[in-house]
Amino acid sequence: MHTITSSDGLFTFDNSYARLPERLFARVLPAPAPAPRLLQFNRPLAEELGLDPDRFMQREGLDILSGNHIASGSDPIAMAYAGHQFGGWVPQLGDGRAILIGEVIDRQGRRRDIQLKGAGRTPFSRMGDGKAPLGPVLREFIVSEAMASLGIPTTRSLAAVATGERVVREMVHAGAVLTRVAASHVRIGTFQFFYARKDTEALQALADHAIARHDPDAAASDTPALALLERVIARQADLIARWMGVGFIHGVMNTDNMAISGETIDYGPCAFMDAYREAELFSSIDVGGRYAYGNQPLIAHWNLAQLAQALLPLLPGPVEAAVEAAQAAVDRFSQMFQEAWLAEMRRKLGLSRAAEGDAELAATLLTIMEANGADFTLTFRGLAECAVADSETTSQVGDLFKEPASVAAWADRWTARIADDPLSPAERRTAMRAANPLFIPRNHRVEEALVAAEEGDFCPFERLRRVLARPFDDQPEEVELARPPQAGEVVTQTFCGT
Ligand code: AMP
Ligand code: MG
Repeated sequence: MHTITSSDGLFTFDNSYARLPERLFARVLPAPAPAPRLLQFNRPLAEELGLDPDRFMQREGLDILSGNHIASGSDPIAMAYAGHQFGGWVPQLGDGRAILIGEVIDRQGRRRDIQLKGAGRTPFSRMGDGKAPLGPVLREFIVSEAMASLGIPTTRSLAAVATGERVVREMVHAGAVLTRVAASHVRIGTFQFFYARKDTEALQALADHAIARHDPDAAASDTPALALLERVIARQADLIARWMGVGFIHGVMNTDNMAISGETIDYGPCAFMDAYREAELFSSIDVGGRYAYGNQPLIAHWNLAQLAQALLPLLPGPVEAAVEAAQAAVDRFSQMFQEAWLAEMRRKLGLSRAAEGDAELAATLLTIMEANGADFTLTFRGLAECAVADSETTSQVGDLFKEPASVAAWADRWTARIADDPLSPAERRTAMRAANPLFIPRNHRVEEALVAAEEGDFCPFERLRRVLARPFDDQPEEVELARPPQAGEVVTQTFCGT
């Protein structure tokens, strides 16, 4: 049963999206959960959002997070969107199992969406049940929070609640609801939805909303929609470079899974690579390898071209001029990505100044890593120690390579290169340790934690969560969680589990 009161005050909502024209969304109530139980709660995030974490430890908080109680000030909606899924156009997707319960202004004055994912059917559910199994909810929780701790723009996870319901997929699972927090849930697919319907009025309202929210200064531009496009392109170039820098593979880079805000969104079959492999791929549904690691910049570029297309009706002047301006913006992506990637690689290699040949130096290392099955994360972390080097630390990095000698020649080049860089060895080590995590959510550890959690044991999950909250710190007692999988531990496939 839903109860509606006006006195809970757990959130102070201000729902700007729900004030947009009605056809941008559908009003919908979350499905009640028969036996809700709080599984995970993110206290630091709650504090950042200006919430009182203690009240969420009590029944009133649980009732809101499970969908059993509509918080005062909430105006729950499911957002309409479309998208290209694996390159194929789908004119209507929308929030089929997520309900935006409202927006809050956080302590720093930023507007953040609060969404319940897995809270039941909406008008966009199509054949789906609107529910989420526990495993994928916990997976999104741990990986999104790990990304945040790595300093990568991402949606956040405030809470995971078990509903007490059974969710049937290939097997029967416990049901759960994730409370997702986002700078906004506007996606490329949200613009595509209205472009495809030739609904320029809604498109304009959406663009105005996105600009007010993410790029307020673009409102003063002569061509605000073009300015918005340029900002989104710049944010995505930076974001994908950050993904590449930690070996993250999103897994489902459909246009509906790419946020205008520049945050990583929709954690499904995502994964971090262990050994470096350009074509690395884990998603069980990605048969053609469209969303493999090395394809991510190309796919982002393609997706941004779809956004440009969808924004055309908002660009001024004759259509040829609009197309030309939008195309020019999209064409700048490759260069922007390349620069962002190179900046990321320089950070990882401890290069505080740019020099000719840096891109080639980084690319060569990756090639050698790939040929030698070297662990991506540990190679870079090991190089940080080589910045204050003696031959012993250098040989520890060599041990990560099938043929240690293969990296020695590269290391000589790098040593010569850093000799020209103004950082002192100690400064370089510090900078590299801040750029190269020791701990990432390795697939085998995530799987292990999820299996245990599904059996009711949250100890491995909580341990992993605690360690991943400080990915750049040596945590000697947890060094086991930093090591790559052994032969029998390798996870080769991840599932979106919707
Ligand atoms: P995703 O693969 O999570 O990005 O979802 C793609 C689309 O399918 C979105 O429109 C989702 O809302 C919808 N969807 C995914 N799982 C379900 C489900 N269990 N019930 C209803 N809709 C779903
Ligand atoms: Mg999605």
